[in-house]
Amino acid sequence: MSSSLTSAVSDFATRFSGQLLQPTDSGYEDARRVHNGLIDKRPALILRCRGVADVVEAVNFARSLNLEVAVRGGGHNVAGRATVDAGVMIDLSLMKGIYVDPKAGTARAMGGATWGEYNRETQLHGLATTGGVISTTGVAGLTLGGGWGYLHGQYGLAVDNLRSVQLVLADGRVVTASEDDNADLFWAVRGGGGNFGIATSLEYNVHPVGPSVIAGMVAFPFAKARDTFRFYRDMTAEAPDELSSWAAVVHGPDGSKLAVIIVCYCGPLTSGEGAVKQIKGFGPPLLDIIGPMPYVSVNQLFDAGFPKGALNYWKSSFLSSLTDDVIDAVIDWYSGVPSPMSGIVFEHWHGAATRVPIAETAFPHRGIGYNLLLASEWTNAADTPRNIAWAREGFAAMQRFVASRRYVNYLDDDEAGDPAAEAYGPNYTRLRQLKAKFDPTNVFHVNQNIRP
Ligand SMILES: Cc1cc2nc3c(=O)[nH]c(=O)nc-3n(C[C@H](O)[C@H](O)[C@H](O)COP(=O)(O)OP(=O)(O)OC[C@H]3O[C@@H](n4cnc5c(N)ncnc54)[C@H](O)[C@@H]3O)c2cc1C
Repeated sequence: MSSSLTSAVSDFATRFSGQLLQPTDSGYEDARRVHNGLIDKRPALILRCRGVADVVEAVNFARSLNLEVAVRGGGHNVAGRATVDAGVMIDLSLMKGIYVDPKAGTARAMGGATWGEYNRETQLHGLATTGGVISTTGVAGLTLGGGWGYLHGQYGLAVDNLRSVQLVLADGRVVTASEDDNADLFWAVRGGGGNFGIATSLEYNVHPVGPSVIAGMVAFPFAKARDTFRFYRDMTAEAPDELSSWAAVVHGPDGSKLAVIIVCYCGPLTSGEGAVKQIKGFGPPLLDIIGPMPYVSVNQLFDAGFPKGALNYWKSSFLSSLTDDVIDAVIDWYSGVPSPMSGIVFEHWHGAATRVPIAETAFPHRGIGYNLLLASEWTNAADTPRNIAWAREGFAAMQRFVASRRYVNYLDDDEAGDPAAEAYGPNYTRLRQLKAKFDPTNVFHVNQNIRP
């Protein structure tokens, strides 16, 4: 580090109440790591903020020295956009405050909270907001990119539940974005990711959910995968809003391949039992753990399958439709999967999330249908080339089935073409105009970047 940078850092440290980590500090190695073990970046500085004033100081400091800025919420982004080589990681993971106001039907989470932490607090009051299916995923990053999860059919995506966001902008100003304040910015952050500022807190609508819901998984032998996915297609075509689901080919604990259907019915238990009857009748399954369970447990059911530090490489796109040919191609591709941790997933998008007009928020994917995700996951670095090749080649083979619509939160870091254009579709032009207004010099570019 140059002597001028050293003295700038010492001066900055007097104004910063958080934890400042440089490469030689103890704790740096742990703090620089994100969820995806494939990401191995070394920021010059990690600024672990304790509050909004720290975030303001951090943004002003990085900008004044022209250092690249990465923002870390939950650190789950597979493309590793929470960190950066030689720049500043503004890390919100110490900012975990969550305040629930049951009377008002709202909850506010600070920018470093995870969905497990959010659900724990909101469920104290029997309330919830649509969040991710894995509890360790960050509230902020998932929401700002859209936010699909078990409640989306009934209550919309995470973005559809946002009431307001407090942001630190590129020039260091602290602003609120809501329908009443900075409405254009509020439109942009509902899907535009971290492009517009650092979300220090996010305020949501909360809904009565649980404490127990009907949820879980049924698993069938891989040999029945074709029938399982055909059944899944028929079942989802009739699914009520309360029943959200995904289906996948995965490996079981004994190493055998399986076809699975995972559901969550967020309405009353008795109606839920009726809604899953059809699934329970399709069989016989190898395993059926669908039944009443606490909503917080549903959010943790598959955490063990996504351990921190495992190596991840994902490819994903919305499907034009879930035809027999897609089903056969997915089963065929999964037959040659090199890692038992990998899966190919069909996510069903439906209900309230698909009734929001495309132009109402920056998030544009409002059609009923399926998102296809090839999630390659492994642990041994020596296996990296073949696991990446499996996802890449599989995705190339699926190109004849996919729509030119992609979910920004699942993009990896080596996407060809202009992935932001595919991620934002008809809303891209307006997003670029707003980026030019709120971040004209592109301070926040370590993300799926919307160029001003
Ligand atoms: C195991 C796993 C499961 C997942 N499950 C789901 C799921 O069920 N549904 C779904 O929709 N997505 C899911 N995702 C994708 C997830 O939405 C994205 O990875 C998302 O980016 C994670 O947000 P984060 O805060 O954890 O990530 P980070 O890596 O911290 O950040 C991701 C992006 O958001 C920006 N960002 C983060 N926090 C802030 C902030 N406070 N202010 C401004 N910008 C910020 C970052 O700069 C970065 O560009 C999953 C991902 C993984 C790895």
